[in-house]
Amino acid sequence: MAKKQFKAESKQLLNLMIHSIYTHKEIFLRELISNASDAIDKTYYTALTDESISFNSADYYIKLIPNKTSRTLRIIDTGIGMTKEELESNLGTIAKSGSLNFKKENEIKDGYDIIGQFGVGFYSAFMVADKVTVVSRSLGSDEGYKWESEGVSGYNIEPCAKEDVGTEIILHIKQNAEDENYDEFLEEYRLRSLVKKYSDFIRYPIKMDMQESRLKEGSEDEYETVVEEQVLNSMVPIWRKNKNEITDEDYEQFYSEKHFGFDKPVAHLHIKTEGTVRYNAILFIPEKTPYDFYTKDYEKGLELYASGVLIMNKCPDLLPDYFSFVRGMVESDDLSLNISRELLQHNRQLKLIAKNLKNKIKSELESLLKNDREKYEAFYQSFGRQLKFGTYNSFGADKEDLQDLLMFYSSSEKKMVTLAEYVDRMKEDQKYIYYAAGESVERINKMPQTEMVLDKGYEILYLTEDVDEFAIQVLMNYKEKEFKSVSASDVDLDTEEEKKEVETQAKDDKALFDKMKEILGDKVKDIRLSKRLKTHPVCLISEGNVSIEMEKILKTMPGNQNITAEKVLELNPGHHVYASLKDAFEHDEEKFKLFTDLLYNQALLMEGLSVEDPLAFSNNICKLMA
Ligand code: ADP
Ligand code: MG
Repeated sequence: MAKKQFKAESKQLLNLMIHSIYTHKEIFLRELISNASDAIDKTYYTALTDESISFNSADYYIKLIPNKTSRTLRIIDTGIGMTKEELESNLGTIAKSGSLNFKKENEIKDGYDIIGQFGVGFYSAFMVADKVTVVSRSLGSDEGYKWESEGVSGYNIEPCAKEDVGTEIILHIKQNAEDENYDEFLEEYRLRSLVKKYSDFIRYPIKMDMQESRLKEGSEDEYETVVEEQVLNSMVPIWRKNKNEITDEDYEQFYSEKHFGFDKPVAHLHIKTEGTVRYNAILFIPEKTPYDFYTKDYEKGLELYASGVLIMNKCPDLLPDYFSFVRGMVESDDLSLNISRELLQHNRQLKLIAKNLKNKIKSELESLLKNDREKYEAFYQSFGRQLKFGTYNSFGADKEDLQDLLMFYSSSEKKMVTLAEYVDRMKEDQKYIYYAAGESVERINKMPQTEMVLDKGYEILYLTEDVDEFAIQVLMNYKEKEFKSVSASDVDLDTEEEKKEVETQAKDDKALFDKMKEILGDKVKDIRLSKRLKTHPVCLISEGNVSIEMEKILKTMPGNQNITAEKVLELNPGHHVYASLKDAFEHDEEKFKLFTDLLYNQALLMEGLSVEDPLAFSNNICKLMA
């Protein structure tokens, strides 16, 4: 029979496995056992809805059979098995090409323990075996098939007798190489400790015949070797155990075993409740963003178990979108096992659990913020954006849940601060929470609009992410303090006296402004004297709901080309340029036009907007220099 080729991506992954210089080759066992356990789950689940199948738990187990003579390790399960087609499609293709790319890119770059932490499934067998044989018989079928492969060259499938339903994986263990020991994977004791380490909570018995030496009956010093079948795992899932029996390492182990992430979580929650809502849950707050987190491919959700059976891999209804980064599992005995996805959505019990979880996650994050700032900031670096999206998307409906978790860079503290910290520091006469939006801290530092606010000794929050200003606008206020952009038209910093002074001057120079407005036309809504400028001659500010920063962001998205901020050009009466402008206004119309044009374009540039006609702008500068 002709050999079949692996799909291209599978080939790459296989290559990665075969040539892995990876130290934790041992995780292959965890992967194969977890597949076996999944296969038994599937039978269990099928039996629930199909009366013709009886599920007798004693019939379901996983068995390991090492053999040093033939150098094989067999992993047998009595799960659902695979048909010929399933062997072909499940083992010939790796669906998760995204995670594959991720692995390849990051393994070298960051030195992450990607394979160990992320899990690569079936192909990890090739880390320890030079040939892999899979014999399987699918539930409801009376013929078996054998799949066999020696690696990238391809695989064969042929009919093969198999007595029982289930799957047997035969690993032909590699020969020891110079500095690589593979013999250990044929040692009973080693295998037993690997099962304990990685697969202890698997709910089906993992059995192995162990040679034990024990005292001969009736003798006091003579030993004999007996072979005894042992169950290697404790079978109690970690979430059913008492918290005081579980170490932090156990939780981390569970996190990577479950492939929740390749990082080390910043926090975990182990929840056991009694009363009206009964459930167990283990939740993790990751430190790093999964590679696809901010794409539409990312699926939120928690594993959902009912009475010990996994009924859904990622139940989305258990988490609000703004906490979509949370990973973990929930088990409740109050849910019916064969509940459909649609019914589940409207299930009252599930809704209660979700609400409960949301509150627990929220307080966990709050306590992390309070007690371990460094960890919280690492978390916020990865997921702060999601919290801000959450604030914005709900139009403020989730404000109570989110506002205390937000952080922004502070002008005075030179680090990330919370809104509560800002408000606590507010000066007595300070009415607003000031913020400035821009591309980066460096850029905002140089914004003319920030000068006077800083000069008056007020702290400014720097909004450097595209979502920030949108989220702040939705919040509107925090602890009854209104947010105010330093670029807002009504930013109010002056004393009554100062105000009067500016007003008088503005009245005196009204003709000048009118003339400027005539020259600039629709480009600006208004021209005014500024109360916020100190060393800069001009700036642009915005009126209305769309700020200049928002205009820039919106314009990068399709369909928003017509959205523009209402811009007002502000002039600094204290700047020597203002005197020159006035002089030109009175004596030289050409020059006045030139100055007006230059000042307007200068203001555009400072805002990070492009000048409308670069050539004309450049010519005008030449004119001025001549
Ligand atoms: P994953 O477990 O993440 O789906 P794997 O590479 O581990 O990916 O396995 C690929 C697929 O092969 C599984 O989804 C399953 O359909 C099938 N499979 C693997 N091992 C077994 C087994 N022991 N019994 C039945 N099906 C299996
Ligand atoms: Mg798997």
